[in-house]
Amino acid sequence: MKYLGRLAPTPTGHLHLGHALTFFMAQRRASDADGRILLRMEDLDPQRCSEEFARAAIDDLLWMGLEWSGEPIFQSQRRHFYLEAWRRLKEGGFIYPCHRSRREISSLAPHEEEPVFPVEWRADPREAKFYNEPAGVNWRFKVPDGESISFMDQNIGPLKKNTLRDFGDFLVWNRHDIPAYELAVVVDDMDMGITEVVRGADLLTSTARQILIYRALGASPPAWFHCPLVCDSEGRRLAKRTGGLSLRDLRAEGFTPEQVLDLAKESLP
Ligand code: GLU
Repeated sequence: MKYLGRLAPTPTGHLHLGHALTFFMAQRRASDADGRILLRMEDLDPQRCSEEFARAAIDDLLWMGLEWSGEPIFQSQRRHFYLEAWRRLKEGGFIYPCHRSRREISSLAPHEEEPVFPVEWRADPREAKFYNEPAGVNWRFKVPDGESISFMDQNIGPLKKNTLRDFGDFLVWNRHDIPAYELAVVVDDMDMGITEVVRGADLLTSTARQILIYRALGASPPAWFHCPLVCDSEGRRLAKRTGGLSLRDLRAEGFTPEQVLDLAKESLP
């Protein structure tokens, strides 16, 4: 099978050093395997994403010298694929409508970014039959109880995540009628025939969730390669704070793409 990778930025802000490192790595993995990469804008959430950031991202990627096959793909134009997957998951009894609010869930562990959804709050997937469309309620994937999901990361080695301890039932569609990241990514990676996913190590738990979606849809997952997260001088992840380290700012200060890559490497923990 010919190597096919992808660059998958979410246009909620400007690209930063962490993106530069991950995307250079994605390009290197593809060219070492004599393969190609696609560019996919993960612009599903209209409240958080903007066309301006999407345009700026494409411009920054071109400036860095990255090359992808074909035209950029926009998730916002692919709703019918996600809806089809939602129907399959619903019919297979893998997902259920969830009436718990985000506030209720975060009040369980106010300091955690993503508290584990408690198994006692799970609803019955049979309730799904009352819905013909996903809109109006959150939809969660019912994880198998206490299973260890193992996978091989091409960069880190063998990894394991426990379904109930590490993540719990997770969103596949939200009540504002937006497909969740986990679902959209799997649907696209499957549909586009991606053979290896190269992305930041902040998404390792997502990988375990996504493996469960592949299984539910009867497909095999791609290979995984998670890149280390680039930190600022105080050791904070850049995704949390991009001021001064966006590619835009570095370009404006006269950095070359090679210098940006060197800086990204130096900022690894
Ligand atoms: N869109 C995600 C991000 O910008 C990456 C998703 C992925 O590579 O699976 O963090």
